Amino acid sequence: MNRRVLLVEPNYKNKYPPQNLMKLATYFRNVCKDDVRFYKGDLKIFAAQLLLEEFFSDTVDKENLFAPEKNDAARKFWRYEKFLLEFIKTGKSSLLEFLSEEDFFYEYTLKKLHRRFKGNDFPTFDIICVNSLFTFFFDETVTTINFVKKFLANDGKIFVGGVAATLLPEYFEEATGIKPHIGLLDKPDDLDKQDDIIIDTLSPDYSILDEVDYKYPTSDAYITYTTRGCIRKCSFCAVSKLEPEYKDHVKIFEQLKRTEEQFGSKRNLLLMDNNILASKKFDEIIDEIKACGFTKGATYLPADEYSVTLKNLHAGFNDRAYLRKMIRLYDELEKKLPESLAGEFYSVREKNFLLSLVSVSKEKIFELDDFVRPLFEKYFRRNRLTRYVDFNQGLDARLIDEHKMARLAELSIKPMRIAFDHIEQRDIYEQAIRLAAKYGIRDLSNYLLYNFLDTPEDFYNRLRINIDLCEELNVSIYSFPMKYCPIDDERYFANRDYIGRHWNRKFIRAIQAIINSTKGKVGRGRNFFEKAFGKNLDEFKELLYMPETFIIYRLKYEGNLTEEWREKFLSLNVDERIEAERVIEQNKFSDEDISVVTSANIRELLKFYQIRRN
Ligand code: SF4
Repeated sequence: MNRRVLLVEPNYKNKYPPQNLMKLATYFRNVCKDDVRFYKGDLKIFAAQLLLEEFFSDTVDKENLFAPEKNDAARKFWRYEKFLLEFIKTGKSSLLEFLSEEDFFYEYTLKKLHRRFKGNDFPTFDIICVNSLFTFFFDETVTTINFVKKFLANDGKIFVGGVAATLLPEYFEEATGIKPHIGLLDKPDDLDKQDDIIIDTLSPDYSILDEVDYKYPTSDAYITYTTRGCIRKCSFCAVSKLEPEYKDHVKIFEQLKRTEEQFGSKRNLLLMDNNILASKKFDEIIDEIKACGFTKGATYLPADEYSVTLKNLHAGFNDRAYLRKMIRLYDELEKKLPESLAGEFYSVREKNFLLSLVSVSKEKIFELDDFVRPLFEKYFRRNRLTRYVDFNQGLDARLIDEHKMARLAELSIKPMRIAFDHIEQRDIYEQAIRLAAKYGIRDLSNYLLYNFLDTPEDFYNRLRINIDLCEELNVSIYSFPMKYCPIDDERYFANRDYIGRHWNRKFIRAIQAIINSTKGKVGRGRNFFEKAFGKNLDEFKELLYMPETFIIYRLKYEGNLTEEWREKFLSLNVDERIEAERVIEQNKFSDEDISVVTSANIRELLKFYQIRRN
């Protein structure tokens, strides 16, 4: 079909590569034979890059876009790519000082491209798909959708989908004029009317991740599902809206095999199942995961990235990604080479225009294979590594029994995440952890919801239970406190400022200050825990009321100012204490806020809350 397709993930920071866009890439590239491109980053830079590509493909030859081996401009100006890009954006003539008199045609063309940049006249695409993620990225996602309209061909079409678009379709439609796709891409003709392909079942195209500078922290993992949906409908959770139908088994073996063949093997297996333990096919799933190479103690040999890249370049599969990747691999290799060899390698690359993406050509890469391959083999040593499977969304403790735990223990599972969202589930949770320990699973982890219907006390108690279990069972449990925020209430789209029934602004800030210093997680170790959260509930509550600066810079203030504050706080009489706590819970400590407090004692206390580190 050869349509130009643009897949865009808004420029927010996220951990997991966009599975739906990766599957769409497979659909458009492999099934429809379209020209697919992925972008995540500053869209203005992307616009300038597209225009620069036109320049490098001898200005207007759209057939040869991104075919650097076919143009002279790239060979002449590859060193000046940054200046050219900047010129297209700003039009500053000093950026073109390197052009000589005989380059007047290029100067004329570049000026024309700058005018196009200013006028939002960008190269266009026939189909643009924008992914959305959390609802708190609403503004950024809307800005992205509205910007990409400038890349749309006259009769083109924009598709918006993903988590936030599914949860808030009417808000997206109102803000962008585009009706989002709701839910998964799990029905035939979800996008194109002319085929019956179910996009959600396609293997993800990992190559698109090499088209962008953004590095997803989890890119060295197969990310997939063995089930869909959940049998429960917890009120704080969006799964029932995102994946309303529970599917007992989504097969992954073939998908992983295809991924390995095309893109090289991945180290870990990240399973995004919402509730795998509810599956009637649980045993089959465990067998399949084992067959995929994730039995207990499993190791793997990292992919030979050079060979994978070369193979895909030979096949003409996503040249844009693999040319870029080859330049990156060359750069990495150069850093590993001894100095004299690095110099020789650089000269060879320079002579063959293999230093920059705009001038690189496949022919030269293939020609240099005999010279480069032995260097990769010698200096890119690949050692076997242990690999892990991670049920990333957590396991439902209510569904764990002896048989299931025994089967899970057959996997190289690390960590085992078990949800502990409510103190009422303490017995069930503890039983699950004990079973894990019994079957030799020692690395555990959990998501700990707070700011929902819980109290600060039960939040502390849940953390403390984990510390006790670690000691008793000699296991390691990392807790990840997760602040609850309604996902479909527009008041919290931008700031996630929701305060739960038993919480207040100061307590939330105190918890965030504590867990910021631990990078969001609470590990094993009684001393550490008691230092961070207090030895008992009284100390924990005192921390919640403590000035934030004293919590963050504990070492700096401990023993002097903190002690003074504590004395003052504890010296208040009952009525003063009630009033002081009410004011502190508002977490507002400006002179004006303090001046309206009638008690001089409390006003003195509140002055401690104005202290900033500097
Ligand atoms: S069990 Fe987990 S996935 Fe299922 S609805 Fe509850 S929180 Fe969501």
